[in-house]
Amino acid sequence: MNWYKKSARDLPWRHTRDPYKIWISEVMLQQTTVATVIPYWNEWIKKFPTVNDVAQAKEQEILSQWQGLGYYSRAKNIHKAAKIIVQNFEHSMPKNPNALEKLPGFGPYTVGAVLSIAFDQRVPIIDANIKRVVARILAFEDHVESRQKIKILAFLDSVMPTQGNNIFNQAMMELGALVCKKDPLCEICPVKNYCLAYKEKKQGDFPKPKIKNIKEIDAVVAILKNKEKFYLQKRPSKGLLADMWELPGGKIEPAETPLKALRRELKEELGIGVIKAHFLFKITHFYTSFRVKLHVFECETEGKLNLDKKHRWISPKDFAKYPMPAGTVKIFQKLLQT
Ligand code: SF4
Repeated sequence: MNWYKKSARDLPWRHTRDPYKIWISEVMLQQTTVATVIPYWNEWIKKFPTVNDVAQAKEQEILSQWQGLGYYSRAKNIHKAAKIIVQNFEHSMPKNPNALEKLPGFGPYTVGAVLSIAFDQRVPIIDANIKRVVARILAFEDHVESRQKIKILAFLDSVMPTQGNNIFNQAMMELGALVCKKDPLCEICPVKNYCLAYKEKKQGDFPKPKIKNIKEIDAVVAILKNKEKFYLQKRPSKGLLADMWELPGGKIEPAETPLKALRRELKEELGIGVIKAHFLFKITHFYTSFRVKLHVFECETEGKLNLDKKHRWISPKDFAKYPMPAGTVKIFQKLLQT
């Protein structure tokens, strides 16, 4: 933030804390470069100085003002949102995230940008610049976009100060735009002492390209309970998630219903039958190259369950002694909180 105060570019929307003007700048900046946005933003604000002016304008005026920026749906959304703001929020932008995110065109980025820059609220955001900076600072290897986002947000949340939120997000973006560029200028970087990629001289390796078209797998999971204990089995010592303890279940085959898969898996894996199965919930979990949707059932079964080194009734208070895959941990977190 100190670096930003000294080095930030002097941009017209940085002279205002008016949430309407900041909103317009953020939407325009999602379209194109800063240099292109400057004249567009100046003209727009001259023509529509307040959200009221946008609400009262004809759609044609809005579109012609936007002409050249592309993605006309964004301009139409600004128009629709301005009308809602005038009608429902007494002519001023709401400060409440729940209200903002319901406005047309307000995704997580725009909501966070307006809340932090205009209202000083502590809301971290991710754009391409921030993603690049954080991926390099942490040198994280993950290719899966949704997981990258979770990690970046968790990191930002851990370093975002309690004061100065209007500057923090802008400082991170500016660092990405001016210093931590595709070819980074590490020697003048204010955070180089905290940057793992710099330390390991691997700046070019991050962020990792995202994996598209991730394979999706559906699987069933059986909750077998004996009083407060759960039946868990140990995975083989080789291969994926070796030696970890998991709930019984397995992949749903093509053309199989979850219930049919559950019956088949329990028969094949444990030699038991299902008397009753009650669907509890679904959980999605990401592995490096695939995504698995776990359909969780609480089951009443018939037949004798094996109890040996690899099959046990385990109480939640002993879970720490049994390493479990993250998907199983997620299931228990949900199960035990409800
Ligand atoms: Fe980016 Fe280099 Fe700064 Fe790390 S040290 S954040 S790679 S500019």
